[in-house]
Amino acid sequence: MSISTPLSFDDGPGPSTHALLDVLRASSCQALFFVLGSNLARAMDVAARAVREGHVLGNHTYTHARPGVLSDAALTDEIEQTDALIREAYRLAAVPEPASIPLRLPYGLEPEDVRADVLARLKRSHTGWTAILDDWQRPAPSPHALVDAMRWHIAESRARGQDVLFCMHDGSRLAEARPATVEAVRLLLSDPDWRAGQLANGRGAGQ
Ligand SMILES: [Zn+2]
Repeated sequence: MSISTPLSFDDGPGPSTHALLDVLRASSCQALFFVLGSNLARAMDVAARAVREGHVLGNHTYTHARPGVLSDAALTDEIEQTDALIREAYRLAAVPEPASIPLRLPYGLEPEDVRADVLARLKRSHTGWTAILDDWQRPAPSPHALVDAMRWHIAESRARGQDVLFCMHDGSRLAEARPATVEAVRLLLSDPDWRAGQLANGRGAGQ
């Protein structure tokens, strides 16, 4: 299963994930969720709900270690443990699991990244982003500041004919809530201009 979506959320599931799923459902918008295995193990019901509602789960490793902290064997183990939990979430949701599970490394894949060898060995590609928002910061920017940044990136990308994939955050290693993220997404999705643009791009509801 693959979806074309401009929205991806990392580091969950977390305390805000249900509220985010409510917002996405109200706008029939699907997203990619790059989950942490350590959070997923405690929130299989939330992940199963996301899958049932048409979202795609991606692997963001088990513990969100910084580049270079884990041995290749330990990183491989984290990816495989998280894959197994993701497959279990699809099973719980009674939704067929995708042929391949998307993967995004913590902090993204950098040039000369020591973790690239592990991905090559596992034959896994890496899903990056076109814009990462500051919603992970403490304190987070206001929802209006976040949605302004999103609108600006969308307008700039459209002018260049480029796709958009936002990296936002619905959780954290510390299980923080992300109310600003949820509200920013609600503001964006309820904007008539956004909906018109999505439909024009063939990315309307239900895809
Ligand atoms: Zn992350």
